Amino acid sequence: MAETETFAFQAEISQLMSLIINTFYSNKEIFLREIISNASDALDKIRYQSLTDASQLDTEKELFIRITPDKENKILEIRDSGIGMTKADLVNNLGTIAKSGTKAFMEALQSGADISMIGQFGVGFYSAYLVADKVQVITKHNDDEQYIWESAAGGSFTITRDTVNEQIGRGSIIRLFMKEDQLEYLEEKRIKEIVKKHSEFIGYPIQLVVEKEVEKEVEDEEEETKEEEDGPKIEEIDEEKEKEEKKKKTIKEIKKETEELNKTKPLWTRNPDEITNEEYGAFYKSITNDWEDHLAVKHFSVEGQLEFRALLFVPRRAPFDMFEQKKKRNNIKLYVRRVFIMDDCEELIPEWLNFVKGVVDSEDLPLNISREMLQQNKILKVIRKNLVKKCIELFNEIYEDAENKKKFYDAFSKNIKLGIHEDSTNRAKLSEFLMFYSTKSGEEMTSLKDYVTRMPEKQKNIYYVTGESRAAVENSPFLEALKKKGFEVLYLVDPIDEYMVQQLKEYDGHTLQSVTKEGLELEEDEEEKKKREEEKAQFEELCKTIKEILGDKVEKVVLSNRIVNSPCVLVTGQYGWSANMERIMRAQALRDSAMSSYMASKKTMEINPEHAIIKSLKAKDKNDKTLKDLVYLLYETALLSSGFTLEDPSNFASRIHRMIKLGLSIDDEEEAEMETDAQDDMPELEEVGESKMEEVD
Ligand code: ADP
Ligand code: MG
Repeated sequence: MAETETFAFQAEISQLMSLIINTFYSNKEIFLREIISNASDALDKIRYQSLTDASQLDTEKELFIRITPDKENKILEIRDSGIGMTKADLVNNLGTIAKSGTKAFMEALQSGADISMIGQFGVGFYSAYLVADKVQVITKHNDDEQYIWESAAGGSFTITRDTVNEQIGRGSIIRLFMKEDQLEYLEEKRIKEIVKKHSEFIGYPIQLVVEKEVEKEVEDEEEETKEEEDGPKIEEIDEEKEKEEKKKKTIKEIKKETEELNKTKPLWTRNPDEITNEEYGAFYKSITNDWEDHLAVKHFSVEGQLEFRALLFVPRRAPFDMFEQKKKRNNIKLYVRRVFIMDDCEELIPEWLNFVKGVVDSEDLPLNISREMLQQNKILKVIRKNLVKKCIELFNEIYEDAENKKKFYDAFSKNIKLGIHEDSTNRAKLSEFLMFYSTKSGEEMTSLKDYVTRMPEKQKNIYYVTGESRAAVENSPFLEALKKKGFEVLYLVDPIDEYMVQQLKEYDGHTLQSVTKEGLELEEDEEEKKKREEEKAQFEELCKTIKEILGDKVEKVVLSNRIVNSPCVLVTGQYGWSANMERIMRAQALRDSAMSSYMASKKTMEINPEHAIIKSLKAKDKNDKTLKDLVYLLYETALLSSGFTLEDPSNFASRIHRMIKLGLSIDDEEEAEMETDAQDDMPELEEVGESKMEEVD
């Protein structure tokens, strides 16, 4: 006897299995879809290998999936002639290495997700435990012996070298020992129904082993089999039987036959006019593991110098792991003349379209194409260009319906923005899909096109503010002057927006301008300009003084054209990071520090000459002891209101506390003992009297 090794399931997988076993759930039939989908994946893999090494198929030439119900023993077997698993594969793939989907799926379940979503999380195999209390995986990989993986859940599984079962050439048998109350899945009719519903479009024949009851004549004494050779019809036998009752008798015999359940030809090869939306939906689900229908579909063919057919789908939701690093780069299956080649061909579609699913079937590519060849393949480049073009057409179709538009944008706005960042050719077209909240949008997001129609005549630029959230930017001091002038400002509050606007410099001839960065151009009339020049002269001295006090905390101190109600703001350089970008980079915390110190915002303090605080600062004597403290407070509050983080929050807090004490007329000397050493290097505030507090207010 071969030795049996026992392994513990990785903790999360174990948890997931208990959850599957113990959760009340009625739609258990989806287990078959998952097992068949794995079989199909395994067949894809061996077929791909065989393209470059035909001998891989020698161990089993036929590519098939075969379902065998065994009512007597209450076992359902699903066999495939796919790639199989080595012993190491069994250990890794079925139990010891958790995928990110394991936890994500359990969390999704907790927040109301449905078990049928399991396939999307990459843990579909374990759905077998919806219907079986014990599962065996009998598997043979070309590089290893045949093994049996077995588990009845309970935290562990075993692996044994297989010396007891039929030796299969190559592939796997998933053997399900069905629960007493799940025997319906051994019924022919039920299996056919489920395969039709969930797996109709699998690209390999799904065979069902059915039992046919045939009546067979046996001659009692005489042994001649003449009739059988002639192949008489059953009715004739019956007639004869009556005549020769004594000589012959009929016995019932059970004969096994296989029936192919998915004879439909590949959907994309059919005429789009004759395909129903239900068929598209079923096909979409079969290639994606999705549990709901697609949002939109595009089915087209390209002819001419190059020929291919394609079927592209946009899902209703983003997958849970859309931007995970090691995730498959795309979801387009590549076929060459109806033969599946691969489903992760990076050259087929750009990364920003990684949410689009579908198939491409080329007439021109060679069947034995290797990954290396794909990289410089001209045909593929043309296909890719066409796919991008068709996707954009498809998005435009989606945008014709307001509800679909919203759904699409909720799910995939990040991808569109990534596209704008990366695809200079299609940048302008993609910018038409953008939508933002703005100072004038109300509860409906606005497109750039609508923004432009609302621009007052004298407005030349498109203005935006970036920040953490809509709430955080809505009352930003940077919007003050623009609001007053009636210029609309877009709220760019998705982190990816910062990257996008580095590339999207204009729309429809209007420059996109950040209202938090230097060099903000606001159309001004002659009078405004004249006034500015005068103020500039008047406040030059104060600007200089403030700069001296703040030292290299700020690059320079200038008069502002963008604030109305605030005394001052901190703006950043045209090409450096904004406060928001600094926040994003800090959160990512993976940039090297040299880079960030170079990019980190160089701040310019802009002061508002109309503001009472600024006016009274100007009136102060340059040597006034309180000036320094007040300037620091102004700087620090401006950091906050401009979206930066405080460099030294406790110092800031102490300054504020002292202001509060002044406000409450608490004598500092009473409190002196309580002050700590840390506060010793603080700027002095003692001499600020109550009258001065009023000015500050
Ligand atoms: P997924 O299919 O999303 O990878 P599953 O939980 O369905 O997740 O399957 C886990 C893994 O087990 C698969 O990735 C594959 O490596 C392996 N596997 C499952 N079934 C088979 C099979 N029939 N043939 C070969 N490998 C299989
Ligand atoms: Mg699977």
